[in-house]
Amino acid sequence: MMQFPAEKVIHVPELTLEFGRIVIYTTSFRVVRTTFERCELVRKIFQNHRVKFMEKNIALDSEYGKELEVRCRRVGEPPSLPVVFIDGHYLGGAEKILSMNESGELQDLLTKIERVQHPHTCQTCGGFAFMPCSMCHGSKMSVFRNCFTDSFKALKCTACNENGLQPCPSCSH
Ligand SMILES: [Zn+2]
Ligand SMILES: [Zn+2]
Repeated sequence: MMQFPAEKVIHVPELTLEFGRIVIYTTSFRVVRTTFERCELVRKIFQNHRVKFMEKNIALDSEYGKELEVRCRRVGEPPSLPVVFIDGHYLGGAEKILSMNESGELQDLLTKIERVQHPHTCQTCGGFAFMPCSMCHGSKMSVFRNCFTDSFKALKCTACNENGLQPCPSCSH
């Protein structure tokens, strides 16, 4: 019997977990160039303000994409990347961040956010916040991959996401 995943199955972070935090949903897919560039731009703005933020790259983990869709639907906004959340609340996309940055509004909003002295790229993962899975080394599969169809989900590595990646132990929390 077909089972359609209900919306509540998708894990959306509790608001309290994001208190005082900035979360930026981005993509490293370069297919849509403008989207990619907007993500770079917004990331740069937050880096320039030297505030701590968590980036959720939906190209590296589709769960982030599902999570974003649910969160945007709740506030009636399109999930067009990048999307920024602050304190767990929807803030906006590239245009909004750009205009808030120019007006100084963003600066005011960021006063309560934790600072980073020297923004640096994580040495462990190179800034991707993900690492190839240590269990399956990114192959995602047991040796039975070629014998069975994808419906044999139990045979797939459960230690990593659909791309064979695990969150970086150094920077993703
Ligand atoms: Zn890292
Ligand atoms: Zn794995």
